[in-house]
Amino acid sequence: MKIVTVGTGMAAAEFVQQLRLGGFDDEIVMLSDEPHAPYSPCVIPYLLAGEPPNNVYWKGRDFYQRYRITARLNETVVKIDREQGRLRTASGLVEGYDKLFFAAGSRSWFPRPEWLGVEGVFGFKTLSDMQAIDRYIEEQAVRRAVVVGGGFIGLDAALALRHRGLQVSLVHCHERLLERMTDADGGRFATDQLKQRSGIAFHMSAEVASLDSRNGQLHGVRLQSGTAIEASLLIVATGFKPNSAALTGVEGGVAVGDDLLADPRVLVAGDVAVTRHAISGPDGLYATAPNAIAQARVAAANILGGNERYAGSLNANILRKHLDFPVVSAGLFEGEAVTFTNDRLFRRVYLQDGRIHGYILVGDSRLAGYIYNLYVSRESVAANIAGILADIRGESYYRSLMDLAPAAINC
Ligand SMILES: Cc1cc2nc3c(=O)[nH]c(=O)nc-3n(C[C@H](O)[C@H](O)[C@H](O)COP(=O)(O)OP(=O)(O)OC[C@H]3O[C@@H](n4cnc5c(N)ncnc54)[C@H](O)[C@@H]3O)c2cc1C
Repeated sequence: MKIVTVGTGMAAAEFVQQLRLGGFDDEIVMLSDEPHAPYSPCVIPYLLAGEPPNNVYWKGRDFYQRYRITARLNETVVKIDREQGRLRTASGLVEGYDKLFFAAGSRSWFPRPEWLGVEGVFGFKTLSDMQAIDRYIEEQAVRRAVVVGGGFIGLDAALALRHRGLQVSLVHCHERLLERMTDADGGRFATDQLKQRSGIAFHMSAEVASLDSRNGQLHGVRLQSGTAIEASLLIVATGFKPNSAALTGVEGGVAVGDDLLADPRVLVAGDVAVTRHAISGPDGLYATAPNAIAQARVAAANILGGNERYAGSLNANILRKHLDFPVVSAGLFEGEAVTFTNDRLFRRVYLQDGRIHGYILVGDSRLAGYIYNLYVSRESVAANIAGILADIRGESYYRSLMDLAPAAINC
C-alpha cells in the first residue's frame, strides 16, 4: 500500500513516524510546499526572540532518511483527483496514492495582500517566514517593529521581538487582547497587565490604514486615527485560513467524523480538519499541536489495522513565552462564573451542572494542569471550586493533587 502525505508538518510527521514504528514497511511519499525537514511552528517565536534553534526540527533533521521517506519538497499540491487516487502539484508533478493523509495546515490571512509587496512586511506562520524575518532584522539592523493582530500568534510575535530588544508597537482592532481566548473581564485584566508589564506599545481599537514606504521599503504605518508609527518591520498576524482547497475546492477546512476520513482513501488531520469538540463546543477548526498529534495517532493506528475513534478536540491554549505572565484558557465561557482575582491574578471557571464548562487563568499557570484535569475528567466541582481558585500554592502542590484528584474533589 502506497501512502502519500500532503504536508510534512506536525500531523504528517507524527503520522508517518507512528506508521514506521508500528511496522509499516511499504512506500511513503511526503509532499510539502516548503524545503524543510518536519518542524514545529510552536518553536518559531523562540527563534524570533533570538534563541538557539534547538527544538525546531522536533523529530530530527534526518527524519526523511531515518524513516525511509521519499520527500518531495518545494512542491505545492494544487489538485487532488479522489476518483483516480492521484494528486498534482503546481510544477506539474503527478503522484498516485492508495491512501492519502491530508494535513496541509493553514496559512496566514492578509487583510491587504498588496502589503506583501513592500519590503519589511511578513506573515508569521512558517519556518520560511521566520528565517526571512530573521535575515531582514539582521541585514537592515531593525530597531522598530509593528505587529498587527492581538490574538495568540500576534502577541507571541510581539513578545518575542521585544525579548530580542526591538521597540514594538502592537495594533489590534478590538478593545482587548486575546478576545477569543478570554471573556470580557479576563481579557480586560490580561490587557491591562500586559500593557504594564510587556514594554510593548499597544494601540487598541485601531487599524492600519496605510503603509509608509520609500523605494519599496517599509518606513512606518499610519493608523485610521491618523497616528503615525515609525517602523521598518511589520508582522501581520490577523488570522489563518485552512489549506483545504486542493482537496475540496473550498477554503473552510475539511469536515471529518471520528474516523478522520474524508472518503475511504483520504484521512485528514491537523489545522485543516474540522472536528468535533471533545466536551461541549461546536464542530470547528481546533488548531493546536496536541489535537494534530492525537489525530495523527488515530489515523496511523487505523492504517496499521486498528479500529480507533478520535475522541474529539479541545480548544486549550497557553500563552506563556517570553514574559512571566501566562494566559491559559479552554472550553466555553458560558454558565455560572466562579472567580478569584487580586492585583496579579485572574482565575475564573464557568460551571454547568456543577462541571467545568470553560476556564480562564491569567497571570499564573500553576493551577493550569489541575484545572485542565478537572475539566476533562468531568468531575463535579461545584462544592469546592471557589476554594481551589482562591488557594495560592506552588506548582508541586497541584501536581501532587492530580494524583489524588478524584478523592480530593469528592470529599
Ligand atoms: C507561531 C506559531 C506558534 C504556535 N504555538 C503553538 C503552541 O504554543 N501550542 C500549540 O499547541 N500550537 C501552537 N501553534 C499551532 C501548531 O503549530 C499547529 O496547530 C500545528 O503545527 C498543526 O499541525 P499541522 O500538521 O496541521 O500543520 P503544520 O504543522 O502547519 O503543517 C502543514 C504542512 O502542510 C504543508 N502545506 C501546506 N499547503 C500545502 C500544499 N498546498 N502543498 C504541499 N504542502 C502544503 C506545509 O508546508 C506544512 O508542511 C503555533 C503555530 C504558530 C504558527
